[in-house]
Amino acid sequence: MIFDPRYFFVVGPFMLLALAASFYVKSAFRQWSKYGIRRGMNGAQIAAEVIRAAGIQGVRIERASGFLSDHYDPRERVVRLSPQVHDSTSIAACAVAAHEVGHAIQHQHRYAPLALRNAAVPTASIGSSFGVGAMLLGLVFSAKPLIAIGIILFCAVVLFQLITLPVEFDASRRAKAILLDGGFVNEEEAVGVRRVLNAAALTYVAAALTSIATLVYYLGFLRSDD
Ligand SMILES: [Zn+2]
Repeated sequence: MIFDPRYFFVVGPFMLLALAASFYVKSAFRQWSKYGIRRGMNGAQIAAEVIRAAGIQGVRIERASGFLSDHYDPRERVVRLSPQVHDSTSIAACAVAAHEVGHAIQHQHRYAPLALRNAAVPTASIGSSFGVGAMLLGLVFSAKPLIAIGIILFCAVVLFQLITLPVEFDASRRAKAILLDGGFVNEEEAVGVRRVLNAAALTYVAAALTSIATLVYYLGFLRSDD
């Protein structure tokens, strides 16, 4: 049981989609990094201004290393921006900075899906390591109970990725609205903001679909007699 063509038919297309989405988001980011916003603020300044305008207190902005490593850390209440976002006055930087602050705003407003996602992190990390391990071992030793345990653990990963979708869509929705309504970008620049954020959203959709397909693939072994 080294090569199973079923895996490539069931999970393969979604893995390809995830790969394509990851290329797409990088190329969208690079493309819109070439164009600056007319207001000339960099990502860090936009983040600070949006935080201030939203009336949020106690959230810091830090410069983090790594390409597209931008994220909001709810435990430390820090918006971490990659150098390409933190220091850049591009449309792409502006979009990502506002999106990450969108998460800080969600946190401030106790947006339920975000709270749910943060609570699901430990379970999901157990599910992604032990769940996958148990499913694979179950497959190698043809042990259905082990596959079943792996599936249950892996369900936590699928749930986590499903909860991630509204969280990410909402942060981007807030970012687009804040940037346009707050006059950070004009209509023309808002097109680039949408392209970058929609490309990023696609990566989350692709990841969720890949996990669901993985789950479906392993569920097939519980039903089959081989
Ligand atoms: Zn996000």
